[in-house]
Amino acid sequence: MTRRFNKPFTQQEPISEAAIARAVEIMRTGRLHRYNVAEDEISEASLLEQEYAAWQGARYCLACTSGGQAIQIALRAAGVKPGDAVLANAYTLAPVPGALHAAGARPVLVEIDQDWHTDLADLEAKAEASGAKFFLLSHMRGHIADMDAVVEICERRRLVLIEDCAHTMGAHWNGVRSGNHGRVACFSAQTYKHINSGEGGLLTTDDPELAARAIVHSGSYMLYGRHGAAPDEETFRRVRLDSANLSARMDNLRAALLRPQLAVVDENFVRWNERYGVLEQGLRRSPHLRLPERRQHEAFVGSSIQMQTPGLDRVAILRFVAACAERGVELKWFGDDEPRAFTSRYDSWRYLGEVPELPQTLAVLAHTLDMRIPLTFTMEDCAEIAGIVVDVLNGF
Ligand SMILES: *Cc1c(COP(=O)(O)O)cnc(C)c1O
Repeated sequence: MTRRFNKPFTQQEPISEAAIARAVEIMRTGRLHRYNVAEDEISEASLLEQEYAAWQGARYCLACTSGGQAIQIALRAAGVKPGDAVLANAYTLAPVPGALHAAGARPVLVEIDQDWHTDLADLEAKAEASGAKFFLLSHMRGHIADMDAVVEICERRRLVLIEDCAHTMGAHWNGVRSGNHGRVACFSAQTYKHINSGEGGLLTTDDPELAARAIVHSGSYMLYGRHGAAPDEETFRRVRLDSANLSARMDNLRAALLRPQLAVVDENFVRWNERYGVLEQGLRRSPHLRLPERRQHEAFVGSSIQMQTPGLDRVAILRFVAACAERGVELKWFGDDEPRAFTSRYDSWRYLGEVPELPQTLAVLAHTLDMRIPLTFTMEDCAEIAGIVVDVLNGF
């Protein structure tokens, strides 16, 4: 009899009772807006900012409505003006091109390599050809490029590095926390990321002027003095009339859900990596799958796993994905011509204008399959899932 896996791949763990209790407490006060504080009260959103800045090891933090909004705000606060060229790796999620578009940037998409990292030779070539002064680096699916090399290129070429850490909250490169390599970093607290408030975003930076601009952009009005991890009044006075209000504030309720999660997030990274390890070991049994080789300097968070199927053509991949689904295992194919659910390829972001030719990225994505690893899966679940994938693939 063939085994069928029967748990959903999109089921998160419940919000803790402590977080629920705090959220209820805040609802009882009615003070949900972050600037609606009682005398001498520090809002929940400000407390979250202080705690996240301390955890991340950054001077300043802004909590906002989503990861995508954090990116748009980061671009603007870093100085991107309409028409400015911005380098960005072509393999990412749709909120990234959306943020570039909203900021009026002219995206210059960069190729990825076999292991889903930005291709650094192409980055240099495109930087040279475009004259771009900004690089929005998305650590897509948690794969971290050689950040020592990236930082060297950015310094030499005077590129402002903006990091999208939606999948690398908690990861490190060479001992440095992901998000602390560039000028500014963006994180997401959307349900499928590493902390969950439904929607939510965080931005961190050590640059006081960038932080002040970001806070005013998020919609602080002239209440920026109530922020938790913010620069001084003097810095705000310099930028406050030049930064548009994008109304992207985080509310106290979401902050209440996130604070207790931040307290246990490091434990969750360990739990993710245990699950990743079991899946990886199981999937490596198939000679038909290629799994990423993680480098020594990369300490990643295994909240998803990617694999390549070099031996399958497009028709076979679709059949393989369908056969896995039949057995309850959900794989996403990044090479599909048709964007589906959360997954879309760069050539479907038509609003960006002319679609660039990125043959290497297309070739890698043509064989890229992706699987979520929710923490509601047990180790036994992960072993079973790997067994099913290997088993199905043997039949091809
Ligand atoms: C989720 C995600 C974001 C931000 O998403 P929001 O839903 O706006 O919080 C940004 N980049 C990547 C790569 C993502 O996966």
